[in-house]
Amino acid sequence: MKHRFLFTLFSLIIFLGCSKENSENNDNTLNKNNNRETVGFSANDLLSDALFKSMVIEVVYVEGYEPSQATITNFVSFLTDRTFKPNGILVEKRAIPSRGNDVYSIAAIADIERELRQNYNSEDQIAVWVLFTDGRSDQDSSTNSVLGTAYWNTSFVIFEETIQELSNSTFEPDRTLLETTVINHEFGHILGLTDLGSPMVEDHEDLAHPKHCDVETCLMFWAIESSAGIDAMVNMSSVPQLDVQCIADLRANGGK
Ligand SMILES: [Zn+2]
Ligand SMILES: [Zn+2]
Repeated sequence: MKHRFLFTLFSLIIFLGCSKENSENNDNTLNKNNNRETVGFSANDLLSDALFKSMVIEVVYVEGYEPSQATITNFVSFLTDRTFKPNGILVEKRAIPSRGNDVYSIAAIADIERELRQNYNSEDQIAVWVLFTDGRSDQDSSTNSVLGTAYWNTSFVIFEETIQELSNSTFEPDRTLLETTVINHEFGHILGLTDLGSPMVEDHEDLAHPKHCDVETCLMFWAIESSAGIDAMVNMSSVPQLDVQCIADLRANGGK
């Protein structure tokens, strides 16, 4: 019997928007605007320690949709392997109540960030925001579920309710494995992959699936987001890794 993964196409999408708030000019707002640039804009600042010696990751989740501690540990390990932050990577995690919405647009997710985000870039610390939300993406269709989206230079959302529905049952992947894969993939976009702020050392962008890597086993391969990718994850014991070309791009842009 074929299970439902064969009929469900997953995708993790990137949102190539533009910051609209550059006209505001008090100091506080200027600081916030540094965290409202396009995806990939801060790749070098995140990878290198030229400007920022540490990183704070603000993990906010809707009650009932907390990522596992193993997922957070895996994510920090991924960042530690690829970025230079001699003063450390700090995680600040907290819960928020549900807003009761079934569906969220990225505009609505960004509004929640504007309202609740507490950490912005400071003198030598770069700040990252991630929301684990209930509800689903307004980009979902009968054949396509969005699991996560990177939408600003230091901001991404994980559709945790969708991840919970699609993990930890028979013929479904382990939840920590799926969460870690989605988070690392989205953060790969924020680190500028593929050709999204970290220029390619060698050409390896999959032109049929822009801003993704053409190596099938790579974390940044498009099929990570597809039924085939999720199918493979059912029996996988570890999270997909970046291939040598993606790592070369990150190293060329100041990373490890
Ligand atoms: Zn992607
Ligand atoms: Zn790759």
